[in-house]
Amino acid sequence: MKYYSTRDKTNTASLKEAVIQGLATDKGLYMPERFPVLSRKEMEKIKLSNLAETGLIISQKLFGEDIPEAELTRIVKDALDFDTPLKQVDDNIYSLELFYGPTLAFKDVGARFMARLLQYFTHGESELVHVLVATSGDTGSAVANAFLGMEGIKVHVLYPSGQVSPLQEKQFSTLGKNITALEVDGSFDDCQALVKAAFSDNSLRGKINLTSANSINLARFLPQSFYYFRGWSQVNTDKLVMAVPSGNYGNLTAGLIAREMGLPVHTFLAASNANDVVPEYLETGVYKPRASVSTIANAMDVGAPSNFERVLDIFNNDHSRLTSHIKGYSYSDDQIRTCIGEVFRNTGYILDPHGATGYKASKEFLNDNPDYTSIFFETAHPAKFSEVVNEEIGQEVAFPERLEAFSSREKVSVLMPKDYAWFKEYLFKQ
Ligand SMILES: *Cc1c(COP(=O)(O)O)cnc(C)c1O
Repeated sequence: MKYYSTRDKTNTASLKEAVIQGLATDKGLYMPERFPVLSRKEMEKIKLSNLAETGLIISQKLFGEDIPEAELTRIVKDALDFDTPLKQVDDNIYSLELFYGPTLAFKDVGARFMARLLQYFTHGESELVHVLVATSGDTGSAVANAFLGMEGIKVHVLYPSGQVSPLQEKQFSTLGKNITALEVDGSFDDCQALVKAAFSDNSLRGKINLTSANSINLARFLPQSFYYFRGWSQVNTDKLVMAVPSGNYGNLTAGLIAREMGLPVHTFLAASNANDVVPEYLETGVYKPRASVSTIANAMDVGAPSNFERVLDIFNNDHSRLTSHIKGYSYSDDQIRTCIGEVFRNTGYILDPHGATGYKASKEFLNDNPDYTSIFFETAHPAKFSEVVNEEIGQEVAFPERLEAFSSREKVSVLMPKDYAWFKEYLFKQ
């Protein structure tokens, strides 16, 4: 299978090139040249499969021409050693819990798959590969944990000093080995700008191998299509909608691809916090990226979603086709807080602030379309956001053991200025 750039369909790459490069050479995003459709038999098999088995069926369709079956099986089984169970929350509303990976957020799925794919493609090469990732919290921890201990690969996590939660910081700054936490004296935007500057610096890229582990890398977002099928396989309805708490739109893009591959989902609900560029675009047809505002669902604080280009590409920039498959919703912090408290009191289910936007979007859609069933994604474990959640539910959300394990370890970070010359010098020394 070939992958083309969203900016120029004649600019193509192999899977290996696309995974190693991350961003296409013309700064577009790579997309698969076709969407293989699952057969009825494969769909029947998925009905009886767990996440890893489902992932294997889909990855054979997507990556089977490029990776031998035995290797692909090993990669998928190793990456997806947990499941994504579905829990009923309300009449016709189900939560697909995506937080059973090591850092308790859905990003573990894509990060773990990407780490193994990159290692497969670079294995045995003498040159080190450097993975750069800018994070406001969740991405850094998922990526660092996914790559921990992998030979031939070094990960550099850039994060804004004092602006990620202490627990999030522990998840990527206590690991050691091939993971370095770079504590930037600046904002998340500064971190992202430093990473972007490194990717556009040909004098640097000529000397060291750099790749990105943000969701612009197709190896990060494509595997997320697996759990869309896993969610569908656990309900029995032909009137299904799926609500996706969204920020950079990598997750929703994976859903759109799942749909092209045959997933019978009627509508995707793009659930946002106050950062509502995409819901606004769906409503008005005008796309106005802007600076993000901070909210309690902070992993979705994105004002210029990087995967929006992929969303447009799937629908050939056709606004009316796009709006017939995606509906946008946006909620304030107050609405999110109220929702967490109400759902807990009414059903006993504990939502995290991101999942809460998905629940609310489901509720709104079902109000107008009562014969549908909605699956919303619980993208992170509520304990990761206990400051907000505890206040709304009036008790302490239980802390899973694997989250506890991080908090006792000691942080090690390299302090750095928001200065590209400094960063370049640091990379040269690696
Ligand atoms: C990253 C993240 C999101 C947003 O996902 P996108 O793919 O960027 O749209 C939602 N919830 C949580 C908990 C996240 O970490």
